[in-house]
Amino acid sequence: MVLRMDYKTDVWVDWCPGCGDYGILAAMQAALKELSLKPWETVIVSGIGCSGKTPHFIFANGVHTLHGRAIPFATGIKLANPDLKVIVNGGDGDLLGIGAGHFVALGRRNLDITVIIHDNQVYGLTKGQASPTLPAGAKTKSLPKPNLQDPVNPLELALASGYTFVARGYALNTRHLANLIKQAVQHKGTAVIDVLQPCVTYNDLYTKDWYEKRIYYLDEDPEWDPVVEKPEEAPVKLARAHEKAREWGDRIPLGILYWDKTKPSMEDRIEQRLSSYKKIPPAKAVIEEAGKPAISSEDLYRIFKRYIVKIQG
Ligand code: SF4
Repeated sequence: MVLRMDYKTDVWVDWCPGCGDYGILAAMQAALKELSLKPWETVIVSGIGCSGKTPHFIFANGVHTLHGRAIPFATGIKLANPDLKVIVNGGDGDLLGIGAGHFVALGRRNLDITVIIHDNQVYGLTKGQASPTLPAGAKTKSLPKPNLQDPVNPLELALASGYTFVARGYALNTRHLANLIKQAVQHKGTAVIDVLQPCVTYNDLYTKDWYEKRIYYLDEDPEWDPVVEKPEEAPVKLARAHEKAREWGDRIPLGILYWDKTKPSMEDRIEQRLSSYKKIPPAKAVIEEAGKPAISSEDLYRIFKRYIVKIQG
């Protein structure tokens, strides 16, 4: 197999024509390429939904997991091997509905993982039911009556949970989104990008035209500075980020709302308690029993040899 530094696979991309997911995929592939991340050092983890197919389309390690459980899988992968770059892809239904508890727990830990929310306000894969970000009263074409529930604001939830990099992107501006993904992946801590993603099949309210009349870019304002370089700057910048997170309607901000570079990551905190953690993380430790290796490297090779792919550089 040839080494593919464009991060594309041979798997047919079967999203509906015009879906915003294509823009997210293109932005991810561009970001991984520009960061020169090695496919074998990168892990894409997804849950269930249209976004859940993303790992199939990216030439890197990938795990397509259970509904709402992408974050626990990603947490285990990152804790076991902190040298890996771990990126979670999930819909707003997956991450903020059934997976909401895990979304909050990840922010509290500040583990070095990037979460990309494919936020289209519907459960696209199951034919367009109202998902957690659809406003109350909204009636998309597949709902028989308007939505009865109030929405969750993903950015406010992330800020309240402790995420140290919080941004919003737009699926159809892939250049801007790729830059956000690069910054999020390089950040040492938990990062989230809420990506406004038109679902052309089931969401006839929040369309390309609707978004493009309203979105604006925070980084075009020379006064906007979301970066926390000293802990004492955090309260003021966090309050401003909350204000921007609430801005929705005639104007919708895109870009980085909050970026705290001062908070220690979970890996740093573990290392303070266990000094060998980063040098010999669980994935690289020898598993012993009564002073002898319980599993030899030959045993591991026998178990995993059918999954080994030979790559020519
Ligand atoms: Fe995209 Fe919506 Fe089609 Fe899913 S149902 S692939 S989100 S357009």
